[in-house]
Amino acid sequence: MGFNESSKIWYDGEMVDWKDATVHVNAHVIHYGSSVFEGIRCYNTGSVGTAIFRLDKHIKRLFNSAKIYRIDIPFTYDEIYQGCIDVIKMNKFKEAYIRPVVFRGYGNLGVLPKGCPINVAISAWDWGKYLGDEAITEGVDVCVSSWSRLPANTMPSMAKAGGNYMNGQLIRMEADVNGYSEGIALNQEGYVSEGSGANVFIVYGGILYTPPLAASILPGITRDCVFDLAEEFGIEVQKQMLPRSLLYVADEVFFSGTAVEITPVRSIDKIQIGEGKRGPMTQKLQERFFGLFKGEYEDRYNWLTQVYT
Ligand code: PMP
Repeated sequence: MGFNESSKIWYDGEMVDWKDATVHVNAHVIHYGSSVFEGIRCYNTGSVGTAIFRLDKHIKRLFNSAKIYRIDIPFTYDEIYQGCIDVIKMNKFKEAYIRPVVFRGYGNLGVLPKGCPINVAISAWDWGKYLGDEAITEGVDVCVSSWSRLPANTMPSMAKAGGNYMNGQLIRMEADVNGYSEGIALNQEGYVSEGSGANVFIVYGGILYTPPLAASILPGITRDCVFDLAEEFGIEVQKQMLPRSLLYVADEVFFSGTAVEITPVRSIDKIQIGEGKRGPMTQKLQERFFGLFKGEYEDRYNWLTQVYT
């Protein structure tokens, strides 16, 4: 992860130096995980230069996450949207990962967050390939986690909220100590849910399967892109509850997410998936996905927001 500590951060509407974008140790968020956030990528495209990918969808999801938690963001959609663009421009980034975070700040440490201000920060940094450069072409080795995703009436998985990532950390750390790149968590009933930071797709008998929202997943924006690209290729997509066993017998498995982009899975719990390498459907979807950034395809869905006009 390439933090650039000489860069500026958009903090409550002002551009501040990296070192000055701080919070108090008694901010509500530190004790109770009371934040919602987004992870957005900005690519140096072959068509329109530096462009933010699916900015509109991300800002809408940020507001939805806040709504679920009764967080009233003290900035408008337009202000946050523009803040993301300004952070890239101000720092003259060509490519970056953008992280807007909305959190309950310093004011009161009761669980009831009355009197706490809502603060907003937008940072950006260079975050290369999340699971390593080879992951995209070679695939990754993963496990099924012993931790489940959040049962529906405990914490809302539809909100991209800081506290949810305590569960994500358990999944990811367990995978890591056992030598795996990522863990796939099941939901409360034992059906496939998602990774700690990515959605899961399974190719089986020519059909593309992925768990529905009811399987305690985050409504991934890259997942949504995969639906559109699959449709272009005439690939049938089924959103349904998936048994763990389907993972092992799948022809292909891949992750989708802003950080992981489209990453093939070559083994699960040391069981080889398909041919043990990136499968043809994954490759086809990747080519179309990455091709947009290379300028090989037109931006037919308006997924790109040009930064330097
Ligand atoms: N699930 C979880 C738990 C995540 O953290 C992410 C990353 N934001 C995803 C799925 C993928 O979502 P997106 O494609 O919007 O990045």
